[in-house]
Amino acid sequence: MRNATDFLRKEYEQMVKDELDWRIKVLNSPTGPRAVVDGEEKIILCSNNYLDLGNDRRLKEAAKKAVDLYGAGSGSVRPIAGTMTIHRELEKKIALFKGREDALYYQTGFAVNSGLIPQLVDQGDIVISDELNHGSIIDGIRLSKADRSVYRHGSVYDFEDKIREADKKGYRRILVITDGVFSMDGDIAPVKEMVKLTGKYGAMLYVDDAHGEGVLGKGKGIGAHFNIEKQIDVEVGTFSKAFGVVGGLIAGSSDLIKFAYNKSRTWLLSGSAPPPTIASCMEALNIIEKEPERVDKLWKNREQFMKGMRDLGFDTGNSQTPIIPVMIGDSGKAKEFSEILYKNGVFALPIVYPMVAKDKARIRTIMNAGHTETDLIEAINAFEKAGKQLNII
Ligand SMILES: *Cc1c(COP(=O)(O)O)cnc(C)c1O
Repeated sequence: MRNATDFLRKEYEQMVKDELDWRIKVLNSPTGPRAVVDGEEKIILCSNNYLDLGNDRRLKEAAKKAVDLYGAGSGSVRPIAGTMTIHRELEKKIALFKGREDALYYQTGFAVNSGLIPQLVDQGDIVISDELNHGSIIDGIRLSKADRSVYRHGSVYDFEDKIREADKKGYRRILVITDGVFSMDGDIAPVKEMVKLTGKYGAMLYVDDAHGEGVLGKGKGIGAHFNIEKQIDVEVGTFSKAFGVVGGLIAGSSDLIKFAYNKSRTWLLSGSAPPPTIASCMEALNIIEKEPERVDKLWKNREQFMKGMRDLGFDTGNSQTPIIPVMIGDSGKAKEFSEILYKNGVFALPIVYPMVAKDKARIRTIMNAGHTETDLIEAINAFEKAGKQLNII
């Protein structure tokens, strides 16, 4: 007789044996440049809270006001009775912020990719995707019946080959998808070249800028960074990273937005975001517009930490953004490295196989505009200690 649920324990135990299970740490305080983690204060180098907005007083006040005005929850999905004045206000604000005709807010960025991609392409179409694209993009592609073609990470040369090949085969639609900033290496996709090639071959360009928003282009994202806002057909983003709240967004033509909200099943069939969440998102955009110095400070912090790592002789890979991987090599060593950092007051996670290649394990660090010079000096000292202890520098 077959046992229906035995595999649950067996697979979990195997993960524990392989040290591939998540041992989740708990924050006992708000998020910030420093936070209390499992009872001890640490410098946080592994959160996506780039602009230190997660615990901003103004975001919290906006949320409180919205609770009083609109309640704790919307009570419905967006298309039925879950669209309130503030949902539409936020979408108009996003469109202005991005310099596009219109925008649409989803519950999460994951919901954008899994809900929209399978509507943009179907049988007879093809998706061309960077090999290191985010898991939510991969799942979105898997939900469609379109063919797939994967190009070497960041390679314009291989990308051109793949798009030319797709063009020759006479597909109905070609959809090109890339992350804007890649979260494991902190490098930027060659979107400027990709715009030219998608234009040449009549392909749609879909850029998921989750790690670029609030960071590149004075906070406006990768479109503004390369000065190609209007040429990205589908610009995707999230409020869960630099914007400090939660929620996904798309920005583009009003044709795109009307198509997307009538077709994306994640948007149509899942409850709309609570009013306080929407109000905080709105406030985050206001602050980014009013305080460009936050973005400047984030980049200053990046320069300080990068210099610290290089002076110590660490390899920081291909980083071009406030995501700075500190390459360690061996997975076991990277885990040990992270533990030494933790003991020395720094919370930064190791990224190991299977997330990256076996010999490419690293400590992935992410800067926060709220880190002070002293925070970063302390962090750099902890890296020096760990690096020397493990004979990496
Ligand atoms: C984090 C991330 C997402 C998921 O965004 P959420 O809004 O947190 O669901 C999607 N795409 C990319 C590229 C990401 O880095």
